[in-house]
Amino acid sequence: MVETAIAKPALLSFADARRVVEEYATTLTATEPELMLLLDGLGLVLAEELRADRDFPPFPRSTRDGFAVSAADTAKIPSRLRCVAEIKAGASAEDSVITLKPGEAAEIMTGAPVPAGADAVVMVEYTKRRADVVTVERSVKPGENVVAAGSEARQGAVMVARGTRITHSTVAIAAAVGRAEIAAYRRPRVAILATGDEVVDINFPPGPNEIRNSNSYSLAAQVYAAGGEPMILPVAADDADDLALLIGKGLAADLLLITGGVSMGKHDLVEQVLASLGARFRFTGVSIQPGKPVVFGEAVLRGETTPFFGLPGNPVSTMVTFQLFAQPVLDALSGAKPQPLPFAQAALKAPIQTRTGLTRFLPGHLGGTHERPEVELVRWLGSGDLMAVSQANCYIVVPPEREHFAAGEAVTVLLF
Ligand code: AMP
Ligand code: MG
Repeated sequence: MVETAIAKPALLSFADARRVVEEYATTLTATEPELMLLLDGLGLVLAEELRADRDFPPFPRSTRDGFAVSAADTAKIPSRLRCVAEIKAGASAEDSVITLKPGEAAEIMTGAPVPAGADAVVMVEYTKRRADVVTVERSVKPGENVVAAGSEARQGAVMVARGTRITHSTVAIAAAVGRAEIAAYRRPRVAILATGDEVVDINFPPGPNEIRNSNSYSLAAQVYAAGGEPMILPVAADDADDLALLIGKGLAADLLLITGGVSMGKHDLVEQVLASLGARFRFTGVSIQPGKPVVFGEAVLRGETTPFFGLPGNPVSTMVTFQLFAQPVLDALSGAKPQPLPFAQAALKAPIQTRTGLTRFLPGHLGGTHERPEVELVRWLGSGDLMAVSQANCYIVVPPEREHFAAGEAVTVLLF
């Protein structure tokens, strides 16, 4: 069987293209684990399980300031109890090892151990105290305002699974189990290659018809935020040999992102050059706007298979297609399952009129209140309009079959 250079898979729908990258991502292996200081792991993916080094909580913990009591003693109110002890958070073992007898209470603080004989805490607001007599004015049920020892996690239990993206809450658990160092997967190396005769690096003054390379930097920022290690290559000219050389260099990374040169223009040579290097394409276009010409595939160089994306060069297209399609591949290389896209719903502040046929991701601004999140389009002049995205905090997602949305209607937004 003869394989043509670019066996063009049909233009995929957004959902199909997303499925293709998610399925591809499951075939990838993660980078190697590295031991690092806890905070250096932020944004990376946990390469080990975080287990409880003791019961959580380690003692029955009061969640209120008040009085530890036996709930049965508060069945009839007001109930008068004798206060026999005071237990504060961090109380010494001697101070907390007491056993309340029926009719007794202990003054207790938030975070302090509830003593034996007590099974609930009455909030101080519902008590009156005179010398050593406490009057309880509201009944409590057994367990009220107490977190039982080991109820959050038993000693040895997995508190955070391997493959979890490390966030502030993961960091909190690592700290709570006494881990100053953790194992996380190395940042995947992501080569970034901008292309175009008109594109110049930011360290050089652009000629009158040239534009500065912003894509390599926006992509580097997105890659870093996604837990990757960006490696910016020199800008490639719209020239097959120059492209082949730099693409070859980029394929040495764990993932290659190319921007520009994937549209229908005479000088859009990226696909052609990739094909000449034996690349296999999984899609060569998606019915979205911005970002329709996006291509995805893999290339084998020196025995190593490397996934690549050819992202359209328009700055907004580059950003959108990175988030929609490259992110799941980066997740997988980083040791995580591809994360679902952060979609939400909000009410439109003003009507929207669009063309149909493509799934659109239009820069929007999400605001409003927690009771009524509202979103509106930001003024935008198309896929090259960087100012629009810089003023936006989401994309409004318009499905291909809709051309009109009324004010007040609920729409889907994709958060950045
Ligand atoms: P292309 O995808 O190569 O057809 O480029 C589409 C548009 O994006 C053109 O206006 C390019 O000048 C612009 N563009 C391409 N690459 C970059 C880049 N690295 N930084 C900023 N703009 C770019
Ligand atoms: Mg170009």
